[in-house]
Amino acid sequence: MKILLIFTGGTISMVRNPETGALRPADTQTFRKFVPELEAGEAQIDMLPFDPLIDSSDVNPDNWAKMARAVYDHYDQYDAFVVLHGTDTMSYSASALSFMLDNLTKPVVFTGSQLPVGVLRSDAKENLLTAIEIAAALDENGQAMVPEVCVFFENKLFRANRTTKQNAEHFEAFASHNYPALAKAGVHINYRPHLILKRATGAPLRLRVNTDRHVAVLKLFPGITEELVNSVLSTPGLRGVVLETYGSGNAPSYDWLYRQLKAAIDRGIIIVNKTQCSTGSVEMGRYEVSLPLLKAGVLSGYDITTEALLAKMMYLFGEYGDDTPEIRRLLQTSICGEITVQNF
Ligand code: ASP
Repeated sequence: MKILLIFTGGTISMVRNPETGALRPADTQTFRKFVPELEAGEAQIDMLPFDPLIDSSDVNPDNWAKMARAVYDHYDQYDAFVVLHGTDTMSYSASALSFMLDNLTKPVVFTGSQLPVGVLRSDAKENLLTAIEIAAALDENGQAMVPEVCVFFENKLFRANRTTKQNAEHFEAFASHNYPALAKAGVHINYRPHLILKRATGAPLRLRVNTDRHVAVLKLFPGITEELVNSVLSTPGLRGVVLETYGSGNAPSYDWLYRQLKAAIDRGIIIVNKTQCSTGSVEMGRYEVSLPLLKAGVLSGYDITTEALLAKMMYLFGEYGDDTPEIRRLLQTSICGEITVQNF
């Protein structure tokens, strides 16, 4: 078994400088000294560090492409991949890779930690070693147990594109509000195979890393003004908007809001309705206040996370260019388990 650790940075990579006491990113040799277990198991574990290591707040779509390419370039040499990543934007990166690695049949497990590896009480080792064990796990047919992009943190394994960072303090930093955990780690690791994506059939891995950043998040709030909405929707080059609405996808019933959204959609901008609630789905038409959105041509985001929707839009605009009908269709389709399409 050969596993590649793609080491991008984040808190997990940090050790204390003995002279200054300040935290700084460790090189791979220093990191391995803090996790001697990496040498002890049966698997060969190699590390591929980013140069420089980065805080995940600095991660952008070029970095997503670099991570996806690292998997692609080493796909035949390794059985599984573990990505060490800062927690702040892990859900965005992991979601993006779920789209960029088309026909994936090997595990890609993201993990990180709330405390640096070089700190006594750190959760780094436990997260890393369990992520490696999950990446290496095989089913009764000798096939990868979890052949999809996922996030392991604290004691749960989640589908990557369903996750959200929910806590800046607790070790349980991630949640998957709309899809159950794929596995839970206690004394044993309990997998739930019926929740795990079925392996792609035969087709070779395809790297699809083109992105287009002309997207925006527009969050509604009581008292939002037409000027603000207009200024977002008039952003030069804008192609897609995540419209964060209330409850089951509701919006204030101002005429100007309908007009602004309709005009933007008529100009070719794609607007997707994503509820501000962390759990549950958009259901336009359930309340009168969401009917104008439907009429204007706003699409339903169903139960998608904002992280996955942004990554999906950037990916679709980058990979499908001007094919707006196809992009609209794919936004309403589950590509790799990111939404539950429901016809209420
Ligand atoms: N700022 C850090 C990062 O996201 C936080 C962490 O890793 O937990 O890179």
